[in-house]
Amino acid sequence: MRFDKTIDGPDNTLIVRVAMKHKQDILIFSLSGLCILASFLVAYIPRQSTGTAASGILEPSFYEDVTHAESAESLRELDGLFQPLERPVLYRNRTKSACWIRFRLAPSPKDEDRFIEIDNASLEFIDVWFPDGTHERAGKYVNARENRVKTRIRNIPVPRGADSGEFVYARVRTNTIMFVPLAAVTARQALARSFRTNLVFGVFFGIIVAIIFINLFSFMVIRNRHFLVYLCYLVSLLVYHLVVHGFMYFLGLPPHFLESLLWLSLAGFGISMMVFAKRFLFLKERLPAVSTILDVNIGLFLVQTALGISMQVYLANQIAYITGFIVPIIIMATTVKLYVSGYREVRFYLIAWVALFTGTTIWSTSAYAEARISANYFFLVGTSVDSLLFTLAIFDLLRKELSEKDVMLEREKYYINLSRTDPLTGLYNRRYLNELIKRLESDGEIPSDSALIMIDLDNFKTINDTYGHLAGDLILTKTGTKIKKHIRKTDIACRYGGDEFLVFLPGANESAARLIAESIRNDIVADCSYSEEGSPISITVSIGISENRLDDSFDGLFLRADAALYQAKKTGRDRISVL
Ligand code: GH3
Ligand code: MG
Repeated sequence: MRFDKTIDGPDNTLIVRVAMKHKQDILIFSLSGLCILASFLVAYIPRQSTGTAASGILEPSFYEDVTHAESAESLRELDGLFQPLERPVLYRNRTKSACWIRFRLAPSPKDEDRFIEIDNASLEFIDVWFPDGTHERAGKYVNARENRVKTRIRNIPVPRGADSGEFVYARVRTNTIMFVPLAAVTARQALARSFRTNLVFGVFFGIIVAIIFINLFSFMVIRNRHFLVYLCYLVSLLVYHLVVHGFMYFLGLPPHFLESLLWLSLAGFGISMMVFAKRFLFLKERLPAVSTILDVNIGLFLVQTALGISMQVYLANQIAYITGFIVPIIIMATTVKLYVSGYREVRFYLIAWVALFTGTTIWSTSAYAEARISANYFFLVGTSVDSLLFTLAIFDLLRKELSEKDVMLEREKYYINLSRTDPLTGLYNRRYLNELIKRLESDGEIPSDSALIMIDLDNFKTINDTYGHLAGDLILTKTGTKIKKHIRKTDIACRYGGDEFLVFLPGANESAARLIAESIRNDIVADCSYSEEGSPISITVSIGISENRLDDSFDGLFLRADAALYQAKKTGRDRISVL
């Protein structure tokens, strides 16, 4: 790891900018790049057609009716208009035209009831005309509860005899992407298909739901706003996928309500994604221009939502394809730029964006290029994988913030300690003692029986003059150590100034104080090893003791201890006096 610069981060914490020298990051990024490439290849590279027989649809062909003028009857006369399809899937990007698909039904082997299924729950209007003149309607606004086979996609019942070899005509109109995969299935096949796809949906919805709970609990415990914005993102995402993939249509809710829900959830998803990016990457502080561009895009999301809700769906979709393409590219490029310029903490966020970028970009580019698989599936997979990784990114950022906080707390503790202690003896200094006593007094925490010991070295000036200042310092240090040795944890000892020490003994009476003072004095006097060169220096101390009396304040206690000390000095030093 190579640190190149240390700067103050916008959140007032220290951000260590690490140069991009991490092999494992480069490996993960390369793999992510390969995943993007592979996903685009799967989505867009044409493959050998698997034929049409398996789908039960024979000879599919299509006709694009720009004017919406044709009817099934008129088309029966105009067979030459139709162009053959390689597989039973019609793909016309985004088009306002009505698209006709003409096909024959493969003969039903066991003469079972069959259904036509179109595996795209976003298509609004699907009309099918069978050879016997029967007309059936499907599409997302037709209540899927009417389904004979209970699956999320509307299944259109095929009348008996419709596989006689005559053409079936289907007309599809949509405000989204014209992606029409057709299949004729028996009830059993429809259920089996539905089971398989629901299993896949279940896995991805399960991931999103699990992540919602993880983030909800994390928010409740940690109360970090990242989780809240992200929760909004996840819930909107889940609702959006439920609507788009047809799970909501099954509930039989009014079409306008569902359309509004779709646009509101897309807005919730998109706007919280951008707000999250702005906050998570500190864009306002680091790259204000990008922050403004995202604000403009938030505005576009609001416009597209308003259009969607007012049923201007085609126009709303056009804006959505643009924002769905631009926003991921902006955020992805910004994250790469931040990472390369040293903000390593964005790495999980960047990897999460690989998944989201792939999903959203395939979704929006499929409006312009023919995708082989429904782009909605890429969007689903991309967003569920990214939700996992975004959560990781949040936890990674929190871990970093917490460890920075720890360092700050340690530093704060160190400076507080420094301001309270006397460097020579390690005892409290006079200022802190005064502060502490004041606090104890105002909190009423000074017990009625307490004592004060005041210690002053005898003739210390002479010792300084004789043995030097350094020897004097050593004596002061050792005196501090000896005082500490003889007092209790609850006692407060301080170097009051020069060669004078104070020991406040809460809960001690005069005789207890005298015992402690005696042992301190004996210890100091007994030790002659004070000089630096090893020559013995004899030290004596004078001690004044005062005991708390009824309604005595600390000041009173102090004055009496001072007077006692004065008395000890006056009466010949090297003694203890009590007042
Ligand atoms: P007495 O017995 O009356 O206390 O006489 P004394 O010489 O000790 O007088 P006093 O307590 O007034 O003198 C304190 C001396 O302590 C004065 C100063 O030279 C010395 N002193 C104060 N602070 C320090 C210090 O940090 N290091 C050293 N080496 N000496 C100090
Ligand atoms: Mg002295």
